[in-house]
Amino acid sequence: MKIATTVSEIPRRSEKRRVLVPTMGALHAGHISLVRQARASAASDGEVAVSIFVNPLQFEPGADFSRYPRPEGADEEICRAEGVDLIFRPAPNEMYLENRSTFVEETSLSERLCGAARPGHFRGVTTVVTKLFHLLAPDAAVFGEKDFQQLAIVRRMVRDLDFPIEILAGPTVREADGLALSSRNQYLNPEERAQAPVIRAALLQAAASKEKSAAKILAAVRAKIGSASLTRIDYAEVVGADDLQPRLTIAARSLLAVAVFFGRTRLIDNIQLG
Ligand code: AMP
Repeated sequence: MKIATTVSEIPRRSEKRRVLVPTMGALHAGHISLVRQARASAASDGEVAVSIFVNPLQFEPGADFSRYPRPEGADEEICRAEGVDLIFRPAPNEMYLENRSTFVEETSLSERLCGAARPGHFRGVTTVVTKLFHLLAPDAAVFGEKDFQQLAIVRRMVRDLDFPIEILAGPTVREADGLALSSRNQYLNPEERAQAPVIRAALLQAAASKEKSAAKILAAVRAKIGSASLTRIDYAEVVGADDLQPRLTIAARSLLAVAVFFGRTRLIDNIQLG
């Protein structure tokens, strides 16, 4: 396994298929499932690359950039065990010059949902993903469905800007109690952690109901999540999975998406309806 920490150390592309999994590190079973998907797509003679970069551009001022976990040794071990061929783990000053002045911005899907709560976040994501695509030149890249808005925005960017890169989506991996794995789960205190499965429970309850009215579904979701004393709902919405526009009634490819604060920790999850 090659570990490149500078751009010049990235091995030149061969004819082999290269599949990239972009991450911010603190790798967990969710990331590992994407790495396995990348391996399956690359096949045994292809290359799996994992980027590990806590991207300062996608953290709003005052957010958790400096306290975000960076367990470099453990991440390396996981990648080695999974047969990853290349880790690209640059320092921030390797990715961004001080006088940088160019960004990549998706201007429609990025406005709502997590974009409303986190101004500049998705511009940071599309900018860094563009740079990673240029630097590593993958044939395909794998993103998690947990971050459904990010996935939709990356797909849109790739379409609009003609990146010759296939975007693959991986299903959300969960704890036994239903909580979606996230590097941010480790910020939860024991009381918050005990309440956090209410998010998944509310989504499952909505998916199991035969209700077709988005307003009624959302009222039930808000009531269920609100019944846990430590929660504060940032948003709960029913949207189309591709255009992320609100849906009044449940149809094919409707997505119920929520963002919930426990203290300063913001967790997201979603489920397909209809
Ligand atoms: P992050 O390191 O949080 O930036 O996530 C890197 C990639 O892993 C993104 O494509 C995420 O959507 C994906 N991911 C994060 N959590 C999960 C999960 N629980 N299951 C599957 N994929 C995930």
